[in-house]
Amino acid sequence: MKKIIIIRVCEIFLKGKNRFYFLKLLEDHIEMALSPYSHELEKSQMRYIVTNFSDGDFDKIIGALKKVSGIHTLSPGYSVESDVDKISDCAVKAMEEKRGFFKVETNRADKRFPLHSVELSAKVGGDILSAYPNVFTVKVKNPELVLNIDIRENGVTLIYTDVIKGMGGIPIGSSGHGFLMLSGGIDSPVAGYMMCKRGMRLSGVHFHSYPYTGEAAKQKVIELAENLSQYSCGMKLYIVKFTEIQEAIHKFCSEEFMITMMRRFMMRITERLALKFGGQAIITGESLGQVASQTVESITSSNSVVKMPVFRPLIAFDKLDTIEIAQKIGTYDTSILPYEDCCTVFLPKYPVIKPKMEKVLKEESKLDVEGLIENALNQIEVVEA
Ligand code: ATP
Ligand code: MG
Repeated sequence: MKKIIIIRVCEIFLKGKNRFYFLKLLEDHIEMALSPYSHELEKSQMRYIVTNFSDGDFDKIIGALKKVSGIHTLSPGYSVESDVDKISDCAVKAMEEKRGFFKVETNRADKRFPLHSVELSAKVGGDILSAYPNVFTVKVKNPELVLNIDIRENGVTLIYTDVIKGMGGIPIGSSGHGFLMLSGGIDSPVAGYMMCKRGMRLSGVHFHSYPYTGEAAKQKVIELAENLSQYSCGMKLYIVKFTEIQEAIHKFCSEEFMITMMRRFMMRITERLALKFGGQAIITGESLGQVASQTVESITSSNSVVKMPVFRPLIAFDKLDTIEIAQKIGTYDTSILPYEDCCTVFLPKYPVIKPKMEKVLKEESKLDVEGLIENALNQIEVVEA
């Protein structure tokens, strides 16, 4: 009897023509997630089975697998030789810490096995009842607990009860490479995670206003990138000095257009970096109507300076939904650390909510846009997160 973890793959992508490509990517990422731990990975039809890991690594392995996109569910359990008594002993052991209304469900792929599915389920169910008197009741319809017995063709049987939800989505790397505009806030890390879930590898771009924003604010963003890097299978963070641009806008443009102008610069610089380093899309954490810079007019203004597609996975999210995901993926506690973001440094009292394009262009014509972008691009710091 051996401890195992069954990994189930999201089924939808298994049906398409790209199935083998997807599976290869997924397998590589499972191996990468498991690489710090001793283990063996076995492929079994549309599942993977992790064996030969040490008990002490179990929680860490489950944690690592939950960060692999394309995994639908996980089941910790046991594998045992396909022998009636051994199966029954193992099933009794698997139910050791459980209680309540249960049923046994057997799936017999190996037709040479001496008992039929129903016969084996009945025998094992009876053995469980006698091993733990007054602990279990059999309930065939809507039980609280199902003990699954999976008799495979190779002479090995898998036994498990729990089904843990995986990350879902499709394997990372199957949807190209996006450049995430990563602030220190709650939203943009969640936006990055959502795109990883859809298979998009990330690079991050952060705009930093030293000395108005300090080292701690930068460290906070590096920490967020390190978290996202686990989902993205590695991530580069490009840190852009934004101070000169902000000072120029502050000096030459009407105050109410501060944020509108900043956003247009951020988008342009992000697109240039993406073009240079292999990115195919820009990702932001914008959510429609959340603040003045996220009205349809403001988004139109910032969107119009780039040609690349801009993905805004949170566009229709309520803040509370975003917070829930941020907590789940572990970015929330970092995001709420109270360091200033570059956007709060020159925050106008009354930002324009629905910027008119002619006005935006008129304000922008007061600036040496190309010169400012060149300068910023020449001072980039790259961090391997
Ligand atoms: P977040 O929580 O992601 O900061 P937010 O609700 O605070 O979002 P804004 O500050 O208006 O919204 O920013 C909108 C989006 O612009 C962010 O989600 C992010 O993608 C991008 N952005 C804002 N500030 C920066 C920055 N300093 N560096 C990189 N991207 C930024
Ligand atoms: Mg913000």
